[in-house]
Amino acid sequence: MSQIGFIGLGNMGNPMARNLLKSGHELHVFDISKKACNDLESKGAAVHPGVTEVTQKSNYVITMLPNNNIVEATYKEILFQGLKKDTTFIDCSTISPKLVKSLLKRISSQGGRFLDAPVSGGVPGAQEASLTFMVGGAEEDFKAVTGILECMGQRIVHCGAQGMGQAAKLCNNMMLAISMIGTSEAMNLAVSQGLDAKIFAGILNSSTGRCWASEFYNPVPGISASTLVNKVPISLINKDLDLALDAAKASNSHIPMGELTHKIYSSLIAQNLGHRDFSDIYQLMQQNKFTF
Ligand code: NAD
Repeated sequence: MSQIGFIGLGNMGNPMARNLLKSGHELHVFDISKKACNDLESKGAAVHPGVTEVTQKSNYVITMLPNNNIVEATYKEILFQGLKKDTTFIDCSTISPKLVKSLLKRISSQGGRFLDAPVSGGVPGAQEASLTFMVGGAEEDFKAVTGILECMGQRIVHCGAQGMGQAAKLCNNMMLAISMIGTSEAMNLAVSQGLDAKIFAGILNSSTGRCWASEFYNPVPGISASTLVNKVPISLINKDLDLALDAAKASNSHIPMGELTHKIYSSLIAQNLGHRDFSDIYQLMQQNKFTF
């Protein structure tokens, strides 16, 4: 079994790390939250005082951190001490493809390997080890890490070179954000005309308007079983839209719906609603509290 480092033990990292322990791997962990470290220690992980110590003990290091700035600062600290040759880093955070390429350059120059492996499936997917991993990296590195990722996920997809995992993740999440607003609009218009929400959702989900947001995360409370348990804060989905906008600029692509969706969610954040679930947009439409 491998010596695996895990940095970032939050909503996603905690259950992912637990699943690695359940599969029999030795785990070396660090998080700036002592509580997060204590929880993993009680499950059998070795807690270290910082990211450098985690890296020294591990052949593979997984990072699952909030954003570009924190990921960049963490790798800067790791690289400052110098790497053991052939250490493989797998970043599962959602960050920009541009940062992935820059990290690849810095890590390779010290003899390390690097893959981006953002995930889809949310906290329930992390808990049930059913995540989808979108992996960017060299073919041989992908083959070497597949077994580790399989302890945490069900679909491990090689998307291409480094940065392609993030490219796939950002496009998927942009589509999700757009379709949530579209679903909310359609449900609101149906209900406002007097249609029963359940009847209309049944029609939608067996017709051409069907999508993941309408079927599994319907914004009308009580329609999809998952609505109450899965939470995706508006601030989190808008972070991914920020990254999609940057990627569109860098690749000279037009994303008018992505831009509009970003504008809508940004206006909700400006109204101090960033903590609300991204499907709550339906309720705001229903209450006529929706302006942007
Ligand atoms: P989170 O905020 O719950 O967890 C982040 C963890 O990182 C926290 O425990 C925090 O203490 C720790 N941390 C912050 N700075 C640190 C540092 N300098 N060194 C070590 N630890 C540090 O976030 P999350 O929901 O687990 O998301 C993690 C990543 O996964 C993000 O990039 C997010 O976009 C992505 N993601 C989240 C979800 C989701 O549903 N929550 C789904 C898919 C992808």
